[in-house]
Amino acid sequence: MCICIHCHYVDRCETYHAVEMQHEQPHLTDTPNFLPEQPEINVNIRNGGKEMEWDVVGCASFVEERDKWARLRPGELVPT
Ligand code: SF4
Repeated sequence: MCICIHCHYVDRCETYHAVEMQHEQPHLTDTPNFLPEQPEINVNIRNGGKEMEWDVVGCASFVEERDKWARLRPGELVPT
């Protein structure tokens, strides 16, 4: 589970923008302008290397804002 979905910066963050790209998800913004400090990314490789899942599991810039992603995209399935 990516911690970014509960982070204040999720709709401005360059790292989360890259995670969206990896997951082929629509972007929350096309112009991210926040560079986080020390994001830790967990990469899971599945299907013999055909699928990669990126999760941010730690970040020095994380500021908790519960369900921020869900509020930005009401009714959509929250990425896991
Ligand atoms: S936790 Fe870090 S990487 Fe994730 S959205 Fe927040 S600032 Fe960006």
